[in-house]
Amino acid sequence: MTSDARSAELFERAQLVIPGGVNSPVRAFRAVGGTPRFIAAAKGAHLTDADGNDLVDLVCSWGPMILGHAHPEVIAAVTDAAARGTSYGAPTRAEVELAEAIVERTPVEQVRLVSSGTEATMTVLRLARAATGRDLVVKFAGCYHGHVDALLASAGSGVATLGDAEALASPSSPGVPATTTAQTIVLPYNDRTAVTAAFAEHGDQIACLVTEAAPGNMGVIVPGTEDGEHFNAFLARTCREHGALFVSDEVMTGFRVTRSGQHGLDGVVPDLVTFGKVMGGGFPAAAFGGRAELMQLLSPVGSVYQAGTLSGNPVASAAGSTTLRLLDDEVYRTLDASADVLRTAVAESFAAAGLPHVVQSAGSMFSVFFTPDDVTEVPDYATAQRQDTAAHAAFFHAMLDAGVYLPPSAYEAWFLSTAHDDEALSRIVETLPAAARAAAAVASA
Ligand code: PLP
Repeated sequence: MTSDARSAELFERAQLVIPGGVNSPVRAFRAVGGTPRFIAAAKGAHLTDADGNDLVDLVCSWGPMILGHAHPEVIAAVTDAAARGTSYGAPTRAEVELAEAIVERTPVEQVRLVSSGTEATMTVLRLARAATGRDLVVKFAGCYHGHVDALLASAGSGVATLGDAEALASPSSPGVPATTTAQTIVLPYNDRTAVTAAFAEHGDQIACLVTEAAPGNMGVIVPGTEDGEHFNAFLARTCREHGALFVSDEVMTGFRVTRSGQHGLDGVVPDLVTFGKVMGGGFPAAAFGGRAELMQLLSPVGSVYQAGTLSGNPVASAAGSTTLRLLDDEVYRTLDASADVLRTAVAESFAAAGLPHVVQSAGSMFSVFFTPDDVTEVPDYATAQRQDTAAHAAFFHAMLDAGVYLPPSAYEAWFLSTAHDDEALSRIVETLPAAARAAAAVASA
């Protein structure tokens, strides 16, 4: 059993000066109860919390730490960059190299670097609206694209984790004007009939459709294939037919599920793409990109304004470029193999405990749904919401007590890194049966 006295003390202090004691809501353990662990250090696949507990990390900073924590080559690049100054407000070689690395790996011709995924999606909406001269935006329920006003309608991630039914109605957060989300059409994921109907009715007013390349913020949802056509291909085609832009949000999947992201799995070429997480190597860096003709609408070439004091920051760019350079084919083979080990172990442990569940994957990104017996597949947010969150909370705490740090939410993917070696995987696998039994006890109560 891990102790949390020092984390509790820090949490008390934090709550006095930071709302809820955290700088991003889902860190607060609200959905699972208990005290969030304050992290003192991390190396490889392991976190050390403020009480000195060693935890195997399956959050990986919610995706970025694909090479594990404090990778020696990333740290060396960052140290070297920082020693030469941490921000200049003028262009650098480092940001050119990061932009080149992104363009080389993905279907975009140009990128602009920003500091967060939220900034990337926010700007992409502006660009799409400017390019088309239209205002409406289509998104899917349960997809999260950062806390952009227009996209905080039926959002996933922390909004899904913390929200009640009322808060999940459109708009998802007080402070977002209804007039803003009135420009946003929210549809059920994987529902082609709903997409076709929305475009039939509003097609000539829709600037863009934004989707997570493969959703990971309502748990991992598989984009379906119908009559040989991938859901993303269907979306791209529908947008094209109506003169709207297809925007793929690869903030979570980019450079994680393949060398390029979900594009490497489905081959669909979006008009605009957003990136984040992995490409920042653990620093605040993100990007958006697309065809040069669209990107040239941005200031200073065009008139669509976008800017950032720390955009393309040299330390973040060094961390990002080094991380991308180290992501060779072997990395993806390792991640796929590790994900397989865990998926199999989860299925076996949950079956042995008699705990109904569904495991879904997008490449090595996967999640476990604590769904009832009659659910064999989770295609959308409405089905994901049928989860037994109490069973999930019991599972989460049993794992944490045994030294495994999972996302503190039933609506999030589990993230692996190349540092999850046999020892780390074995520790997780050994922990699963008892945690599954703890969850089953609550589920059947
Ligand atoms: N888009 C997706 C798919 C995400 O998963 C996230 C964050 O989890 C974002 C956008 C927002 O990125 P950030 O938290 O860097 O603002």
